Amino acid sequence: LLIIALLLAIVAVILYWNWISARVSTDTLIQKGLKRKEFIPYYQVVVDCRTGQVVGQEMLVRWRRFDGTLVQPNQFIPYAEDSGLILSITESLLEQVYRDLTRLKGWVSVNVVAQHLEAGLLSEWLKSHQDKRVKRISFELTERKPITFFELALTEINAVAPQCHDFKLDDFGTGFGGFSYLQQLGINSIKIDKMFIDTIGTQDLKAPVLDSIIAFGQEANMEMIAEGVETQEQADYLAAKGVYIHQGYLYARPLPLDQLLNYYHNHS
Ligand code: C2E
Ligand code: CA
Ligand code: CA
Ligand code: CA
Repeated sequence: LLIIALLLAIVAVILYWNWISARVSTDTLIQKGLKRKEFIPYYQVVVDCRTGQVVGQEMLVRWRRFDGTLVQPNQFIPYAEDSGLILSITESLLEQVYRDLTRLKGWVSVNVVAQHLEAGLLSEWLKSHQDKRVKRISFELTERKPITFFELALTEINAVAPQCHDFKLDDFGTGFGGFSYLQQLGINSIKIDKMFIDTIGTQDLKAPVLDSIIAFGQEANMEMIAEGVETQEQADYLAAKGVYIHQGYLYARPLPLDQLLNYYHNHS
């Protein structure tokens, strides 16, 4: 029994050690990536389906490693959020968005989590970027993660909201905040999560939820953006319900700036 206990303890130590070193090496890689400016913005257009016009775009980060590989956000954003390095990544992205804005149409949204607000990062960044360009920056706050320090987050939103385009509640319907976040944080724009768009034309149990989200949004006078629109059937369904602002592969994938400019050119 003693031997088994000893073996288990050794296994536990090895697993823990591997876990720690994986974390540490990811952090080191991200820090190196930041120095080499490897985090770059991709842009996915948001379109008014009635006219086909671009009304804005969401900035989605990609990690272009020095060897040319492109790493998707799901593979590093969770680590960056745990370690706090997300703050430096976002700062670097904001600089690039600010530079690109002179060539972008409409607004551009940047994804933020509660940490950004609690750390006062946005108001700090805005202090050194006081021109009318920043009025076109929007922030998407996910409701997938809870806000720990609510008062801090609220103070930051109140400070930043008048200086930027707006705050949008991201992944609406999937998380913690829902209606109370909208009310308490004074947000009046929601992004309906792809999970619900996926149910259109299916027998999915979540299908009725989409209709209630839309009804709620209209009742509460929310600006609504449908994300993850992939098919014409989904676009038509949403338009019939009065949701006209769409984002998804049906229109375009997230693109680097030069390809985004081509998209503008081909769709104007
Ligand atoms: P999200 O904010 O919900 O962003 C939408 C995701 O759905 C993006 O994935 C986008 O490429 C994808 N998408 C859009 N339209 C479609 C569609 O029609 N079909 C399908 N299958 N997918 C579609 P992406 O770029 O891989 O980003 C994943 C997540 O990573 C984002 O989810 C967001 O939560 C996070 N993320 C991305 N960039 C940043 C960032 O700069 N900062 C932070 N904090 N998070 C970020
Ligand atoms: Ca988003
Ligand atoms: Ca989203
Ligand atoms: Ca989503």
